[in-house]
This record gives sequence, C-alpha cells and structure tokens, in this order.
Amino acid sequence: MEAKVLNGKELATKIKGELKLEVEELKRKNINPGLAVIIVGNDPASRVYVNAKKKACEEIGIQSFEYALDENISEEELIDLIHKLNKDDKVNGILVQLPLPKHINEDRVIFAIDINKDVDAFHPVNVGRLMIGDPQFLPCTPAGIMELIKESGIDVEGKECVVVGRSNIVGKPMAMLLLSKNGTVTVCHSKTKDIEEVCKRADILVVAVGRPEMVKGSYIKPGAVVIDVGVNRLENKKLVGDVEFESAKTIASTITPVPGGVGPMTIAMLMKNTVKAAKLKSQAQ
Ligand code: NDP
Repeated sequence: MEAKVLNGKELATKIKGELKLEVEELKRKNINPGLAVIIVGNDPASRVYVNAKKKACEEIGIQSFEYALDENISEEELIDLIHKLNKDDKVNGILVQLPLPKHINEDRVIFAIDINKDVDAFHPVNVGRLMIGDPQFLPCTPAGIMELIKESGIDVEGKECVVVGRSNIVGKPMAMLLLSKNGTVTVCHSKTKDIEEVCKRADILVVAVGRPEMVKGSYIKPGAVVIDVGVNRLENKKLVGDVEFESAKTIASTITPVPGGVGPMTIAMLMKNTVKAAKLKSQAQ
C-alpha cells in the first residue's frame, strides 16, 4: 500500500486562515503585528524565501517591512539596523534571512536581536528556553513538523524517533521537540556509522541533511512516518527532498512531499510567532 502524503500546503493554509482571524481581532484592539525582514545580498533562494514570507504577511494582515541590504554591508551596520528595529514599536518580529555573506558573523547578528522579537527562535536565550522546556517561541521548521505530525493523528510518545542532521536550525531543535513529546530520540550526522540501520529503527524519521534523495526506501522501517525537510534543486531545475520519495512511499505509512510538505509549514509557524510576539508585547504594556 502507498503511504499517505501529508499535505503541508493545505495545513499551512488552514493555520494562516486562523491567524488572519486572530489578527483582525487584534487590530480591533489596536494591536498591529509587524515583521521586519532583512535580506543581505542577491542570493536567489533567499529572495524566493523572503518573498514567500512577505506574501504570507499580506495574506494574514501582518505588516511587513523589508530591508534589502547590499552584499558588502558591514557587520556593524547590520547590527546597528537590528538595534534600531529592536526599539521600533511597529516591529514585533525581526527575521534575518540566512545565510549571510561570509564576512558577517551570523552568531553575533542573531545575538543582537531582542529575544522578544526573535520570531525565528535562533537567539541563544530562546534556544536555551526550548532546551529547559519553557519555550517562548518555537523554531519554525521543527514546530511546523510537529504540527504536521499532530494533524495526521500520530502520537510521538514512546516512539523511536530518528533525526538525520544536527543543525541549530532544524536537527537539534527538532530532537528537543520530539523529546518534549516523550519520543525516544536518536540524532544522526555525517559521522554516524551505518546510518541506514539507524534510520531503519525509526517509527518517526525526520531527514534534514541537504543531500538530494540520500534516504532511500531501504532506510525505512515498514509503516514509519517520514518527514523530509530537504530542499535541493537538481541541475535539471527539479526540486527534490533528502528522501527518495518514489521508493520511500511504498514502505512508509505517511510521508511529506517536496515541495508542499514542510516548507509551507515553516512560513505558517513564522507568522504564528509574529502574532504571538505582538500579543506578548501588548500584555507586557
Ligand atoms: P545544514 O547544512 O546546516 O546541516 C546539515 C546536517 O546534515 C549536518 O548536521 C550534517 O552533519 C548532516 N549531514 C550532511 N551530510 C550527511 C550525511 N551524508 N549523512 C548524515 N548526515 C549528514 O542544513 P540545514 O539543517 O540548515 O538544512 C537541511 C536541509 O533542509 C537543506 O536541504 C535545507 O535547504 C532544508 N531546509 C528546509 C527548510 C524548510 O522550511 N523546508 C528550512 C530549513 C532547511 P555534520 O553536522 O556532521 O556536518
């Protein structure tokens, strides 16, 4: 039997619809959520992501403020802008599109963002809060994956969860969220031995490596839930994930497609965090 395909686009549309109603309600109370989006340089993929985020803001009624900065901007100038946005009352969330040019230290830039406007949840304080089980904002991609898992009726508790990839953006926070729902979590990386066998133990397999179709059907336990985070553009321009969809879907019970799986959910969660940031600010006043 073929796997059920989890439609992230549909779920993201539903969540954005709910957020739109919430934003209308907030506006009646004079609370106007706003998101500042900073992009440095001309990376085409970053431009696509930034445009998608701005479009989502428009759909929901969140004000977006774009700062498109020259590739050669200094780290100091970028941090000065962040300090300015930290003080700007119209801005509830600050998003710096990664990656940044090599001459800019990403850690220092993220560190400059006000923790209450850190809607990507990349600031060490927000990372730490997730770690101790008291998150203020959930990191967007892993949070979107948890929503997909929940929507499809899968209970994480007691399940063998394998996360392939240990980046600060996806792999590590993903492991934390699965752990917080009582999954038994294994994290794999480029030095993991016999990764195929480790993946095969998983009831829930999350793959975030950035290697086109690395995980084949043979890596998957029959009936497993497979979440493919990867976004890889092949030479023929085709977009594929980190999982070989065709072979995986004959073995998994549930699988996310690329595109249309995790990607749209990431943006929906960013919107959710921005609305949350606006609410937190109004409560603090
Ligand atoms: P990173 O490059 O930061 O991390 C990749 C991770 O994969 C590393 O931990 C690395 O291990 C591990 N890895 C690389 N090669 C192998 C291998 N052969 N075997 C096992 N592990 C390996 O990537 P990200 O986490 O930022 O992104 C991963 C993918 O997800 C990319 O395709 C990216 O485009 C996509 N992505 C999609 C998003 C969405 O919304 N859909 C959001 C964010 C990312 P090591 O640490 O040892 O080097």
